[in-house]
Amino acid sequence: MNAGDLTNLHRRADSARRMLERCGLCGHACGADRSAGQTGPCGAGDRVRLAAHLLHFGEEPPISGRRGSGTVFFSGCPLTCVFCQNHQISQQGRGRPVDDSELAEIMLDLQDRGAHNINLVSPTPWVPQILAALARARERGLNLPLVYNTGGFDSPAALKLLDGLIDVYLPDAKYADEEAADRYSGAENYPAVNRRALEIMHRQAGHLETDDRGLAVRGLLIRHLVLPGGLAGTDRVLADLAGRFGTGVWLSLMAQYRPCHRAAEFPELSRGLTEAEYDAALDAALDLGLENVFVQELDASETYLPDFETSEVFSRTE
Ligand code: SF4
Repeated sequence: MNAGDLTNLHRRADSARRMLERCGLCGHACGADRSAGQTGPCGAGDRVRLAAHLLHFGEEPPISGRRGSGTVFFSGCPLTCVFCQNHQISQQGRGRPVDDSELAEIMLDLQDRGAHNINLVSPTPWVPQILAALARARERGLNLPLVYNTGGFDSPAALKLLDGLIDVYLPDAKYADEEAADRYSGAENYPAVNRRALEIMHRQAGHLETDDRGLAVRGLLIRHLVLPGGLAGTDRVLADLAGRFGTGVWLSLMAQYRPCHRAAEFPELSRGLTEAEYDAALDAALDLGLENVFVQELDASETYLPDFETSEVFSRTE
């Protein structure tokens, strides 16, 4: 990054910080004045809360590669998924406060440890602070691709701040239906916000591109978690993605649903996914002609909880 780009990045970080006074970083657009101590549904305040940082080997192969993805787990999330596997981090505030300079140090440390990229998990509420840390880290030699690993409930304003800075977008496309999005994730407008967010991400970064080692260097890789009983509206989500982005879109079809957190309160979510359900989802993807699909083992224990390091659980359909 040259001196002009760095100056621009510092300026962008400064103007992003002002967004915390009336926050609209996610689809809730709740307007909380986080700089004055208010919080919205995501629980995020003025200062980053960090749950963990580590080399992660359980992401899709273009993200984890052989040396691991330099993963930074942020605390707090605008979505309140009743089945969240990481609810201690996303909904219960597990983590510790860090400032911009420590966050920059963490990125540089992950680079020194051989990470292929910096993978920002649940970054949406923290975009301004991430930009400030990124400016410091780039100044000090951070040269890895940035992966924005999000639930996909990002506002256009948040994504505009990231334009040209994120190399790889790794968003979820969780639901086709507003009713399901409201009941299970507390965000009735998720489908509309998500459709818009994915469109912006694709416009900024295009389809996923990999280098000669198969590592992601740029583009969009969309994740979809198949839920029991077709509750995610998988057929319609996939058809929508194929229709809007073409069959060359990259998709990670996830099978790791388990009834965690509050899932037992919802009888329809209180069991795991069956093999037949996952196979039907995969058939739907293949029937649509999707060409780039990562599939996951049904019993994958892959989780984002920081004390897990798993072997690769994804493979790609040919
Ligand atoms: S990120 Fe948090 S504070 Fe900002 S709009 Fe969303 S819920 Fe509100």
